[in-house]
Amino acid sequence: MIVKQHDTIVLGAGLAGLRAAIEIARKNSAAAVAIISKVQLMRAHSVCAEGE
Ligand SMILES: Cc1cc2nc3c(=O)[nH]c(=O)nc-3n(C[C@H](O)[C@H](O)[C@H](O)COP(=O)(O)OP(=O)(O)OC[C@H]3O[C@@H](n4cnc5c(N)ncnc54)[C@H](O)[C@@H]3O)c2cc1C
Repeated sequence: MIVKQHDTIVLGAGLAGLRAAIEIARKNSAAAVAIISKVQLMRAHSVCAEGE
């Protein structure tokens, strides 16, 4: 069994999750941040948003 440790785990790889992960890493570059997503990165609803 592979055991990994992180300081923060973000659930969801849509815009909200990715933005949160970036901000955490930006505030603390030493923080180990992981993102867990149910679907593949490019399958999140965020991919559909066209900015309207
Ligand atoms: C067809 C469509 C068109 C749109 N067009 C626009 C637009 O033009 N302009 C606009 O402003 N907004 C638009 N939206 C809305 C916009 O896409 C969403 O409001 C925004 O992307 C939500 O981002 P989010 O990160 O909260 O969620 P999402 O992008 O839905 O991401 C959710 C993430 O959580 C993960 N997840 C879910 N459940 C679990 C679980 N149990 N365990 C682990 N991971 C999980 C998913 O895998 C995914 O990675 C549109 C939405 C759709 C569906």
